[in-house]
Amino acid sequence: MANKIEKLIFPSGFKCLICGCEINDDVFEICDKCFSKLPFVKGKVCLKCGEPIFSDANYCVYCKKSQPSFTKCFAPFVFESPISDLIHKLKYDGNKFVAKTLSNLILKCFLEQNLKVDVVVPVPLYLSREAERGFNQAFLLTQSFIDAGFEIDNSSVIRVKNTNTQTALSKIERTLNMENAFKVINKEKLKNKNVLLIDDVYTTGATFNALSEVLLKAGVKNVYGLSVAHTIIEK
Ligand SMILES: [Zn+2]
Ligand SMILES: [Zn+2]
Repeated sequence: MANKIEKLIFPSGFKCLICGCEINDDVFEICDKCFSKLPFVKGKVCLKCGEPIFSDANYCVYCKKSQPSFTKCFAPFVFESPISDLIHKLKYDGNKFVAKTLSNLILKCFLEQNLKVDVVVPVPLYLSREAERGFNQAFLLTQSFIDAGFEIDNSSVIRVKNTNTQTALSKIERTLNMENAFKVINKEKLKNKNVLLIDDVYTTGATFNALSEVLLKAGVKNVYGLSVAHTIIEK
C-alpha cells in the first residue's frame, strides 16, 4: 500500500499551494505569509471533540449533553478558507498532491498532542463511493504517518452503508444515518490497541463517533480522531 500511495502523490514543485509564489519549503508547500494566515484552531477547545469554546466550560454544548464514545478528537484548523478550499481541491477536483501538505499539517498537530497511538486508521469510504472517486481522501491523508513509521490499517474496518447524503442533514439525522455504517472485520488486529482515526473534516462528529463505537465493541482500547479541519457548528 505504501508504494501505491507514493506514486499517487506527486510534488507540486516549489510554488505556494495557496498564492502560487515561489518558495523553498517542500514540506508544507505554503509560503510564510499564507501559512501565518491559515485558520488555525486557537484558544480553548472542548476536551472531547476539539470544538473551539468561547466560555469557561471544559466541554462544548453537544459533548456535555451526550458524551461521544471516542476519547478525544482534535484538528489543526477550523473549516474556513483557504484550508476548506484545499480540502475541496483534494476531494472533488482530484488534486491528490494537496494531500501531502494536509497530511504533513495533521501529523504536526498530532505530534504536538503527545498521544500514545499504536495504529492509524483512515475513515473508510463505502466501496462504490471510493471506486467512483478513485481514491479515499482519508487514506491519502495518512501519507505522512506512513513516512514517519506509523502502522496504518486500511482493511480491518469497512464501511457497510452508503451515507453520501450527510451534508443536508442535522446533527441528530447524521447520527441516525451513521448507525451501523461501519463493521470491524478483523477484531484481533485492533484488540487492545490505541487507534487514531483520520478524516478530512469533523462536522458533527457522527462519523468518528459511529466508527469509535464499533471499534470499542471490537476491543480497541482508546479511539482518537484527527481531522484536517473542524466545522464550527452554530449553537
Ligand atoms: Zn502563499
Ligand atoms: Zn465537544
